[in-house]
Amino acid sequence: MADRQDVVIIGAGAAGMMCAIEAGRRGRRVVVLDHAKAPGEKIRISGGGRCNFTNIHAGPKNFLSDNPHFCKSALARYTPRDFIDLVERHGIAWHEKTLGQLFCDDSAKDIIRMLLTEMKAAGAVLRLGTSVQSVERTPTGFRTITGEGPIESAAVVIATGGKSIPKMGATGFAYRIAEEFGLPLVETRPGLVPLTLDPGQLESLKDLAGVAVEAEAKSGKTVFREALLITHRGLSGPSILQISSFWREGGDIRLHLLPEVDLLAVLKAARKANGRQAAQTALAEHLPKRLAQFFADKAGLANRALADLSDKVLDGLCLGIRDWTIRPAGSEGYRTAEVTLGGIDTRALDSRTMQAKDVPGLYFIGECVDVTGWLGGYNFQWAWASGFSAGQAA
Ligand SMILES: Cc1cc2nc3c(=O)[nH]c(=O)nc-3n(C[C@H](O)[C@H](O)[C@H](O)COP(=O)(O)OP(=O)(O)OC[C@H]3O[C@@H](n4cnc5c(N)ncnc54)[C@H](O)[C@@H]3O)c2cc1C
Repeated sequence: MADRQDVVIIGAGAAGMMCAIEAGRRGRRVVVLDHAKAPGEKIRISGGGRCNFTNIHAGPKNFLSDNPHFCKSALARYTPRDFIDLVERHGIAWHEKTLGQLFCDDSAKDIIRMLLTEMKAAGAVLRLGTSVQSVERTPTGFRTITGEGPIESAAVVIATGGKSIPKMGATGFAYRIAEEFGLPLVETRPGLVPLTLDPGQLESLKDLAGVAVEAEAKSGKTVFREALLITHRGLSGPSILQISSFWREGGDIRLHLLPEVDLLAVLKAARKANGRQAAQTALAEHLPKRLAQFFADKAGLANRALADLSDKVLDGLCLGIRDWTIRPAGSEGYRTAEVTLGGIDTRALDSRTMQAKDVPGLYFIGECVDVTGWLGGYNFQWAWASGFSAGQAA
């Protein structure tokens, strides 16, 4: 006898598990398929193992999409407070780290355990190690062909994520299914990803690898103020990951280091108090020492006594620090990207339910959809919210 379900969910990540919980609670017979050996692998490694599971400030402004209004409905239907309530019902301790970002006190595995417990209570069945070959239309719904045989269902929810970190099982499966069913795609690219530099730039920055500093990173009109990290491969740290989602090949990144410090005033005061002091020594009161040296060298002022430097010269030195322009060679790509920008074109989906407008019964949720959050818990909030919305309808 054919395996019959109401809802087949492909992908046991954040979005797929949330959808399974909600559909199961509505009394739907739900099976979740995943080719991986364990569910929620990205949850497990997220937030440095503590899962930045939401952001209390999450709103449509924190998401990138070709269709910026699309995410509003789902985000309003399932809010950060809803997820916090769930976490608290399971006795999981959490804290706000910074900028509204909520993390588990203990381990990201607590979130996975919570989702599995809720799925079980809702009667949803999880089948791991199950490869999915194809999804076909039938007169009554869909037939999902798996390595273990076909499954018939009224609804199919695609929750297989994006292309980031292929080593962890990311496949691009959702895009293939979308194309097969005639849904349009928005071009995909890596997001929240370190940026790389060309060999010449790397050579000039080689003494700075490992240096971190607070910075504003700007691409076009978009600015993020968070930590910047210089690495052996290029630029990283939260400010760079954030801006990477807005940066395009060939564009410049403009960095304003220590934006909260008036370095010109600092240098002038140092010149008055101790004119024999070298420029880099005065800068190193605020900037990491290696950066202070780098900018003094760059301006040709290393070891020059402050007393010998005019206001104009000092301002030139500060300008290099408040408007340090770098043209990245590229990004580290999907290998290390936290998310995939682009994906299923939201114009083909119903924003309340995530159902394909022209294919009743077929849903797309989570990262495979062209809705991508900033760094800071927004991407999980989108996974929960889109999974919840589809779970109310599928
Ligand atoms: C290192 C890292 C850290 C991150 N940290 C955070 C964070 O702290 N906060 C935050 O908000 N976001 C974070 N993110 C982003 C977040 O993990 C994703 O946005 C989120 O997991 C997307 O959820 P999803 O359910 O759509 O997809 P996924 O979590 O990617 O789940 C997709 C599932 O589908 C399965 N699958 C894929 N293809 C197939 C197939 N063909 N057949 C069967 N199964 C398949 C996969 O095995 C996987 O289990 C991080 C990402 C990375 C890579």
